[in-house]
Amino acid sequence: ARIPLTVLGTGAIGTALVRAWLAAGHPVTVWNRTTARTGALAAEGAAVAASAAEAVAASRLVIVCLLDDASVGAALDGAGLTGRDLVNLTTGTPAEGRARAGWARERGARFLDGGIMAVPPMIGSPESGGYVFYSGSAELFEEHRDTLAVPAGTRYVGQDAGYAALHDVALLSAMSGMFAGIMHAFALIGPEDIAPRDFAPLLVSWLGAMTGSARPAADRIESGDYAKDVVSNLAMQVAGNATLLRTAAEQGVSPELLTPYTALLERWLAEGHGTEDTTGAVELLNLRRTAA
Ligand code: NDP
Repeated sequence: ARIPLTVLGTGAIGTALVRAWLAAGHPVTVWNRTTARTGALAAEGAAVAASAAEAVAASRLVIVCLLDDASVGAALDGAGLTGRDLVNLTTGTPAEGRARAGWARERGARFLDGGIMAVPPMIGSPESGGYVFYSGSAELFEEHRDTLAVPAGTRYVGQDAGYAALHDVALLSAMSGMFAGIMHAFALIGPEDIAPRDFAPLLVSWLGAMTGSARPAADRIESGDYAKDVVSNLAMQVAGNATLLRTAAEQGVSPELLTPYTALLERWLAEGHGTEDTTGAVELLNLRRTAA
């Protein structure tokens, strides 16, 4: 028999999660602050609880997928969590994940924090490659891993409840830099000079080819040897960046998305790392290590 579960939050992601569990035959109880947003799921077989506390009481396994950590605190305030298995799929920071884990423990619940690496259409379709990072209670994860694997792939990344968020946010932060780069490129090309639709496939293949640089960068960070097998040295790249900024000026495009990165590389060059790879500039970013 499929185990019953509760889902708090039927927003875009919560609704997709509920549909996947219903389709797999799990009895699902849902709650949402705005009740109207549960109507479609009720018609598809979900039980709708009148309050979050009632929804939490309905199943031992409770999935939470709300806007942010503050809404999790607001929704669960007053719910009886003793003996519950709480899985928080709301995006938060690592510190929020750890604090929420302690908060759940104090209330007698086992806790798992999650970071969803998927957009709603990827939920419930394993072939999409979407998955969820989990961290916190290993016992909870082991007991419910098959159920958790219904809507998306699962990756357990450790007992530290902050690690799911750290993995999630690190990937999203890298994506943010990529989105900034794509936006700058579209600003540069016009649309007067180059048609965006002609340019998009070039962007896709170029960025795809360049992402492989993360692997040698990781090797350099782990070995501390930024001078090994250098393909494009820092001095050349800083000179190249000046060309990027002059082109932005020629095209009448604000350099604001590029300048923080180019300035960082210039600082690292000024510290005498011109013949190395750019990777070492990561040391300038790490404020904890710089202060130590
Ligand atoms: P939505 O905006 O669609 O839904 C937000 C949900 O949070 C709604 O159920 C909303 O209730 C509820 N909510 C907001 N504030 C409160 C509050 N103070 N008290 C109680 N409930 C509240 O968001 P998504 O479903 O897209 O996202 C949910 C989480 O999943 C977020 O943390 C997001 O970062 C994460 N996520 C989203 C992805 C996406 O592509 N959509 C991808 C990966 C992660 P109401 O209906 O009443 O407003």
